[in-house]
Amino acid sequence: MSNKYETVIGLEVHVQLATKTKVFCGCSTAFGARPNTQVCPVCLGLPGVLPVLNRKAFKYVIKVALALGCDIQKTVKFDRKNYYYPDLPKNYQISQHDMPLAYDGKVTIVAEDGNTTDIRVTRAHLEEDAGKLLHDPGLPFSYVDLNRTGTPLLEIVSEPDIRTPEEAHRYLVTLKQIIKYLEVSDCNMEEGSLRCDANISLREKGAPGFGSKVEIKNLNSFKAVRDALAFEEERQAGLLDDGEKIVQETRLWDEKKNVTVSMRVKEEAQDYRYFPEPDLVPFEVRADLVEEMRASMPEMPRERALRFSRQYKLGEKDVEVLISEKDIADFFEQVAGCFDKPRVVCNWIKGEIMRHMNERGTDIRGLNLKPGDLAKLIKMVDDEFISGISGKDVLEACIETGKDPAAIVRKKGLEQVSDEGALEGIVEKVIAENERSVTDYKSGKTAALSFLVGQVMKATKGKANPKLAGEMLRRKLG
Ligand code: ADP
Ligand code: ZN
Ligand code: MG
Repeated sequence: MSNKYETVIGLEVHVQLATKTKVFCGCSTAFGARPNTQVCPVCLGLPGVLPVLNRKAFKYVIKVALALGCDIQKTVKFDRKNYYYPDLPKNYQISQHDMPLAYDGKVTIVAEDGNTTDIRVTRAHLEEDAGKLLHDPGLPFSYVDLNRTGTPLLEIVSEPDIRTPEEAHRYLVTLKQIIKYLEVSDCNMEEGSLRCDANISLREKGAPGFGSKVEIKNLNSFKAVRDALAFEEERQAGLLDDGEKIVQETRLWDEKKNVTVSMRVKEEAQDYRYFPEPDLVPFEVRADLVEEMRASMPEMPRERALRFSRQYKLGEKDVEVLISEKDIADFFEQVAGCFDKPRVVCNWIKGEIMRHMNERGTDIRGLNLKPGDLAKLIKMVDDEFISGISGKDVLEACIETGKDPAAIVRKKGLEQVSDEGALEGIVEKVIAENERSVTDYKSGKTAALSFLVGQVMKATKGKANPKLAGEMLRRKLG
């Protein structure tokens, strides 16, 4: 994009809260059930029923609001947002219009170079999700699944403070990290528990006001958000260069073609005819409830990052990886609590542990690895009781069988041979059988030594301590 323009982006994020039951009734929120099996008269919107607010959902929203540094309001109210759509049986959604739970928060994003930027959060409120329509292109009708209807949704609206698609991406990663630390949502974009609409406009650099914005929907991954915004930046710049006006509209991201396409033009603000939900009166947010939530907050990612670099003396990049998820950070601390070399522990987690997570498509909990077992294993390698290569094998077996690493080492007979007496004969034999390399080494080709060490390793099926083997060879070859 030409540097004549400045990009302005604001994001609207919806997060499904991980309560067991829906926000105004007792139906299950479990994902993936048979369609329309998790419904009742309340979430189907049958006449005469009454909504009852889910206390846990409300507490979860307070937690997020606190983590974002929002002002929690003293009195909140629910409103009906009226519109017609086949996935909304009541013809209105219970939401919060002019008295939401929280205003004025922020998300601090950290750029590649370590610089931080605060993206202001306009507001956060609680509402209910709609159902889901399933379109099968081969059929002349669509399906409606109302299992999702009434799932608690937290909406977080940002100010138009974001300036690049990359920043938008960081905002989402950071927000997701915060919400996952609070354990109030799994933020799984594939299952729709985190959804994002992106608003973007361009203006000439230094212009006082904002240009007209385009809202992009159908963004199914963080990458889609970044790509769609980058596309839209170019498209709008092209139009402005040609002297054309940007139409305020809603566009859809087409992931296959990598373009946005117009969905509907917003001629004027949609009129939802908001009015107070008569079945849920405005109520006071008790200060002691807010304090209870504040006391239950875990250490948040940025504080934890600072503490990790202080306490464990780790570099910025390492810390970033470790705190990326609360479970990983917890796991690291448990292992480091049993084996007092944090850098070594960090390397195992960054390397082997993450590799196993990726290969198995699971998170750290899914590996079912006991922190104490990993600590034991790392200690065996660090003490040179087993080789680094054996260590990786033992880890694999440990993850696969859940058995004690020491038992695996014993069973596989992997104890490293660090006893000179036991290696003596083998080293002599390797020297006798590899005259060429011996001559090479003696004539100053030091690389020949690694070949000889390799021969010792081979002869011992990888069990020789390579450092010791090298020392012995060097000594013998003078
Ligand atoms: P709407 O009335 O269309 O819902 P809002 O003012 O409520 O618009 O803002 C919705 C989102 O759009 C917010 O995240 C806000 O930051 C963002 N936004 C508002 N104006 C602009 C703009 N000119 N350019 C980019 N984003 C904007
Ligand atoms: Zn229900
Ligand atoms: Mg709005």
